[in-house]
Amino acid sequence: MERADPQVAVYTGTFDPVHLGHLDIIERGSRIFRRLIVGVGINPEKTPFFSIEERIEMLQIVCQRFPNVEVRSFHGLAVCFVRSVGAGVMLRGLRTVSDMEYEFSMSLTNQTLDPEIETVFLMAKVEYSHLSSSLIRQIAAFGGDLSRFLPAELIPVMQKRVRQHLQLPNPGIFPNRPD
Ligand code: ADP
Repeated sequence: MERADPQVAVYTGTFDPVHLGHLDIIERGSRIFRRLIVGVGINPEKTPFFSIEERIEMLQIVCQRFPNVEVRSFHGLAVCFVRSVGAGVMLRGLRTVSDMEYEFSMSLTNQTLDPEIETVFLMAKVEYSHLSSSLIRQIAAFGGDLSRFLPAELIPVMQKRVRQHLQLPNPGIFPNRPD
């Protein structure tokens, strides 16, 4: 069995898409731990907005400025993934009191499954404490301003995907042609 290194942490999630709240946890986690692995969960029962490859690529784009952060996908139990990469810590972000109940039972379950793996929580920054990927998908669908929620380099990607979903013509392809 891999050693559970307490200086190596794993931050798991769906990241559909990664937003500024996630990125803040990644940045702070990268300062606390020697190595941080962002684990993107593959759940065959869910139909995500972005494919696993797209979610990984978006994370790689926004994480490239952190040399000790890497991005990987995983199937199955997060705690097994943590152990398989030799990490000793599961890093989680806490937004509101309502997150607490779910996170509390998750961390107790993970502790039962693997007592050597610790869960470490970081409180979300106040400006991101109501932010979720589903909220961002809704704002994008209604053409709202994403600049305070999404990393700048992902805004065009998000807008493009929304247009694909709504099957709207892409005004960026033939900007000079009258429709
Ligand atoms: P999951 O499907 O596991 O909820 P998410 O991608 O929504 O996946 O979240 C992954 C992790 O990021 C979780 O620990 C979650 O609590 C945390 N998180 C989500 N949104 C925020 C936010 N706005 N600020 C800080 N942490 C967050």
